[in-house]
Amino acid sequence: MKRYQPEEILIERGEENAPVVLRARARLPETPVRIVEPGWERELSPRNEADSFAAGKRRLLFTRQRSTFLEHCPAGTAGLVCCNYLVVSLISNCPMDCSYCFLQEYLANNPLLKVFTNVEDLTSEVAKAVDRQPWRQFRIGTGELSDSLALDPLLGFSGDLVPFFATRKNVLLELKTKSDCIEDLLKYDPQERVVVSWSLTPPAIVESEEHGTASFAERLRAAQRVQAAGYKVGFHFDPLIEYPQWEEGYRDAIAQAFSAVDPRRVAWVSLGSLRMTPALRATARRRFPQTRLLSGEQILCDDGKWRTFQALRVKMYRTISAWLKEAAPQTPQYMCMETASVWEKVFGHAPACDKDVARMLTQPHVATL
Ligand code: SF4
Repeated sequence: MKRYQPEEILIERGEENAPVVLRARARLPETPVRIVEPGWERELSPRNEADSFAAGKRRLLFTRQRSTFLEHCPAGTAGLVCCNYLVVSLISNCPMDCSYCFLQEYLANNPLLKVFTNVEDLTSEVAKAVDRQPWRQFRIGTGELSDSLALDPLLGFSGDLVPFFATRKNVLLELKTKSDCIEDLLKYDPQERVVVSWSLTPPAIVESEEHGTASFAERLRAAQRVQAAGYKVGFHFDPLIEYPQWEEGYRDAIAQAFSAVDPRRVAWVSLGSLRMTPALRATARRRFPQTRLLSGEQILCDDGKWRTFQALRVKMYRTISAWLKEAAPQTPQYMCMETASVWEKVFGHAPACDKDVARMLTQPHVATL
C-alpha cells in the first residue's frame, strides 16, 4: 500500500512544537510547511475545485480539538440496536478514498485532513470517564472520522494510545483500519487491551471500490503480524456488498481470513449492510462514475438511508454468519445499524438492551497468550 504524502503541511500558530507535529515534520522533511492562524480552517478548505473533497485530503492541518473527544457512536439512533460503543477522533478525514465512505457527505464543507495535537486531553478525558465506572467494561474506537492506522507511519499516534490503554483494566481500545500500517504498533505491548480490526470485502470489491487502501492479502498479512505481537484481532464485514458473485467472494474471504489468523484470538466480527443517504449516493455517483454499488436491489429505510432490500439483506447476513460460525465458533458476531427485527431473523434473538451486546463483546472469550 502506498504511504500518504501531503502536498502541504498547515500548522496552527502555537502548535508548532506539539509532539505529533515534530514527528510528522521529521518524517516528511521535504514537504512545504505553512503556519496558519487559529480559526482560519474554513478559509483554507478547498471549495472551488472540481473535487474539493479529494483536494482537502491532500493538505494536512495540525490544530487543537476544542470540544470534547469522547462521544457515543452515532449508530445507536433511529430505533436501531446499539452496542454501547464510544468513539474518540484524533484525525478528521482519511487519506484513502472508498466510493461508499460517509465522510464524503459528513465532511463535505470541511474536507481538510485534520490532525488534533492535544492528545493529552484525550487520554485525561478517557481516564476520568472510565475511572468513574470501574465496574463497567468500555469499548472505545478511533476509527469513526478516519482510518485508525493509515496515517500512523507519519503521526505515530499508536505510541500515545497503546501504552495508555494497556494500563486501563476496564477498556478495550479498537483500532479499525483498511491499511497495513502496523509497524509502529509492533513496538508496544498491548497487555490484552487493544483490538486491531480490519474491514474486509472480497478482493474484487477492494480493487473496484476501496481506492488507495491495502489489498486484501496485505490486510491479512498485517493481521497475522499484529496477532503474533500480542494484539487481539477483529474483522468487520461492513459494508456487505451485494454483487453477482457475492457468495463465492465472501465464502473465500472468510476462509482466507480465518486461516491467516488464530480464530481463538479474534475478539469480534461484525456484519453491516451497505447504507447510504440519498446525498451520499449522489456524491458517490459524481465522484466515482464507475462504481458498482448503486445498481443493486436497494430501498430507502426509515432512518433515511438506502440499504439492500431486506429479504436479500437477511439472506446475505444468514449465509455469511453461518460461514463465520463454522470458521470461528467462539467468536461473537454482531450487526451494526440494524433493527431488532433483523437481529431476530438472522440470529434468532434480539438483544434486550444495548448492555447485552456490549457484555457479549467484552466477556473473556478470547484465548490469552
Ligand atoms: S478507509 Fe474508511 S474512512 Fe477511509 S475512505 Fe475508506 S471508508 Fe472512509
